[in-house]
Amino acid sequence: MADCIFCKVVAGEIPATIVKRTDRFVAFRDINPQAATHVLVVPTYHVASLEQVKDAAMLGDMLLFARDLAREAGVAERGYRVVVNTNPDGGQTVYHLHLHLLGGRFMGWPPG
Ligand code: AMP
Ligand code: ZN
Repeated sequence: MADCIFCKVVAGEIPATIVKRTDRFVAFRDINPQAATHVLVVPTYHVASLEQVKDAAMLGDMLLFARDLAREAGVAERGYRVVVNTNPDGGQTVYHLHLHLLGGRFMGWPPG
């Protein structure tokens, strides 16, 4: 998608701090971090939100990718949160599917 900022991150057309990359997923640091560890995981192809996803295996693999990132970041034992904001009431602002991996501090509940 030509005007999608996360497609541009995947393509290397705008700068980002890439944490991990495979042919299917890219993980990069959130530009406005909400915790010591705040990484976004995106599929390398464009899909706007969870509402548009048809590929269950991709979703499962993306979740395991985030789980492995949490281990590699050293936050898995104390704990972390994976968030998929979806559509306006869910707080989604970028319409390319992404998981937020948040760790390094206690996460309150309920979320804001
Ligand atoms: P959401 O509100 O769930 O759609 O999350 C979008 C996230 O993308 C926010 O946490 C932003 O801080 C983050 N973000 C927006 N633009 C960039 C960018 N160019 N590089 C890294 N993170 C970004
Ligand atoms: Zn995109």
